[in-house]
Amino acid sequence: MAEESYYDILGVKKDASEKEINRAYRKLAAKYHPDINHEPGAEEKFKKINEAHEVLSDPQKRAQYDQFGSAGPNAGAGQGFGGFGGQQGYGDFAGGDFGDIFSQFFGGGGRRQADPTAPRQGRDLQYSMTLDFMDAIFGKTTTIKYERDAQCDVCKGSGAKPGKSPETCSRCHGSGVILTVRRTPLGNIQTQTTCPECNGTGKIIKPEDQCTKCHGSGHIHERHELEVKVPAGIDDGQQMRLEHQGDAGENGGPYGDLYIVFRVTPSREFRRDGSTIYVDQDISFAQAALGDEVKVKTVHGDVNLKIPAGTQSETNFRLRGKGVPHLNGNGNGDEHVTVHVHTPKSLNKRQKEAMMAFAAASGEDVKGVKKTVLDKLRDAFEDK
Ligand SMILES: [Zn+2]
Ligand SMILES: [Zn+2]
Repeated sequence: MAEESYYDILGVKKDASEKEINRAYRKLAAKYHPDINHEPGAEEKFKKINEAHEVLSDPQKRAQYDQFGSAGPNAGAGQGFGGFGGQQGYGDFAGGDFGDIFSQFFGGGGRRQADPTAPRQGRDLQYSMTLDFMDAIFGKTTTIKYERDAQCDVCKGSGAKPGKSPETCSRCHGSGVILTVRRTPLGNIQTQTTCPECNGTGKIIKPEDQCTKCHGSGHIHERHELEVKVPAGIDDGQQMRLEHQGDAGENGGPYGDLYIVFRVTPSREFRRDGSTIYVDQDISFAQAALGDEVKVKTVHGDVNLKIPAGTQSETNFRLRGKGVPHLNGNGNGDEHVTVHVHTPKSLNKRQKEAMMAFAAASGEDVKGVKKTVLDKLRDAFEDK
């Protein structure tokens, strides 16, 4: 015989039921699918399996084939054998449910799992740093300590003793995954799980070859010390990324990153909004009326502020460049000073006479009211 019969190709008897034919077909198709079987001749075999199934699964075609024998389909071309599946590639192979299942476990739908043996970057870590109000403004260099997984310095992450190297895992043959097949009425469902032998690394280190420091893991847990330069102008809630200061990677991948999140404690003297500083400044009635020069606090030290004659209470003055340094290093923000004209709580005799004279000179008829005990009590509890 020049050619195997379709029954031989599927490995079933001539009187096989439709169920048996389908079962045999699924088993063989899964075995010879060109996506998974790269042996020479596998593709050819797969085409033949398809062709055999196409005919034998259709009662009408099967009857015709039985009648014409193995040469039948070719001899009888055009007699109801049109649309032969075998030559058309794999697109219409199986059809229906089986095709859907197939695409799931062979990644036909683009859902193929990531290669577990590929290098992966380590985890990112977060560190919360509390800063003094002034340190946040001017920056500082400090050393932080935190726990992380580092690459083992003895084996350089390989997990093997010096001079030894990991071997390919015999269970998964280095793929890091195990395919398990479950029989269902719709066909064999395969699921991909991480190889428990090598934990998905695809490599095994014999116990006697394991690095004694990391016991074969390639990682060691360490308390890591790191010098951090906090930039001038950092603000509450902002974060800074330090590349490759997180956990060590897998399969030779790079370290993850460290994110430092800053918490800035508030100040008693200054309020801050971004790069702008706000302060309050009390001035006397005389200073407001006559004008003066007063010392004002800034984060850069005291500066003199000119109060023009006739300044009203709640007037704002801007001190250019006396605020917080911009993070990009391009100069400083400003300081805003709000002046509050302070009314004296009590006057001595001379002050009182002067004030009466002032009122009279202004054409006012001010009577003046004696302070009650309650007023004095209230003054004692108020500021200053
Ligand atoms: Zn080691
Ligand atoms: Zn394995």
